[in-house]
Amino acid sequence: MIVTMKAGASREQIDQVIALIEECGYKAHPIFGSNLTVLAAVGDERGKSGVFERLGSQPGVGKVEYILPPYKLVCREISPGLEREPTVVKIRVRHKERVTERAIGDGRLSVIAGPCSVESLEQVMTCAREAKKYGATFLRGGAFKPRTSPYSFQGLAEDGLKILAEAREEYGLGVVTELMDIHNLDLVSKYTDIIQIGARNMQNFMLLRNLGDTDRPILLKRGMSSTIDELLMSAEYVVSCGNPNVILCERGIRTFETAYRNTLDLNAVPTLRAATHLPIIVDPSHGTGRWELVKPMSMAAVAAGADGLIIEIHPEPAKAFSDGQQSLKPKKFGELMDAVAAVASCVGKPPCWKD
Ligand code: PEP
Ligand code: MN
Repeated sequence: MIVTMKAGASREQIDQVIALIEECGYKAHPIFGSNLTVLAAVGDERGKSGVFERLGSQPGVGKVEYILPPYKLVCREISPGLEREPTVVKIRVRHKERVTERAIGDGRLSVIAGPCSVESLEQVMTCAREAKKYGATFLRGGAFKPRTSPYSFQGLAEDGLKILAEAREEYGLGVVTELMDIHNLDLVSKYTDIIQIGARNMQNFMLLRNLGDTDRPILLKRGMSSTIDELLMSAEYVVSCGNPNVILCERGIRTFETAYRNTLDLNAVPTLRAATHLPIIVDPSHGTGRWELVKPMSMAAVAAGADGLIIEIHPEPAKAFSDGQQSLKPKKFGELMDAVAAVASCVGKPPCWKD
């Protein structure tokens, strides 16, 4: 850590901070400038909780900063000049008594498609058939829905999970569904291949810790008001508790702009790429909230380097129980798949469905 003392900090205050740094197990390296004194606290930060905050509240301290990012495990850089290999999240999908291994982050583009909410067997079966026809390898669908209003459709719960599992059995697509409550972890794990943690739960730290105890791949969506660092710290919770299988998802953030539901922050893709070894996918459906923006923003996401996309589709968006305005009809989804395949090939990330 780097501790910058305030201009005018007394020698006594500086000595007290040096003493605290050493007491906490770091080596203090002071640099006495003509106006400011800077103290470098060198040492491994793991297991030393509270030091950052304690240093920040000492008399005479201006600011405290980390030298290396505080997310040690998801960080791309292990030490200056030494980088981790990209993480490839492997997903085992059971289908007709066989297990197929799929991967996200292996250098090919993958697509997850399906309805916002699981509404009926027929709706999910149609989505799965169409998603597969155009090249998606995963089926999404919410059985537990995080709705702003308690009076809105909340999802079909276990009945919805069973429908997703039935579609997997029929079409062999891996299932991605949201877990909202830790009490449903076993239930959701029973039916799903990737557990989605939605934007509203990105900082549900107890939930994240519990996911660290499973080996199930986790799709961690960025909170709508969360910074990149906060997203990475949330991923660090899961990984530090023992589960390395985390996929990050940019899904748009809240800004002053009201022309669309969210602002899809595509800066996040190359920024995350530089910061972490974890795979990165983009959700242009929630990121825009408008179906006609989904194809161009999917193409842009792939051009920016995304490893995958998660797209909402619906056989009849006008009748959808949730998010109909951002859901693509199957034919439009097919056009999107052709468009992103062309971009993916140009940026050296061949679409996995063209193998
Ligand atoms: C979803 O994917 O269905 C969803 C609710 O997304 P988010 O958590 O990004 O709002
Ligand atoms: Mn949705």
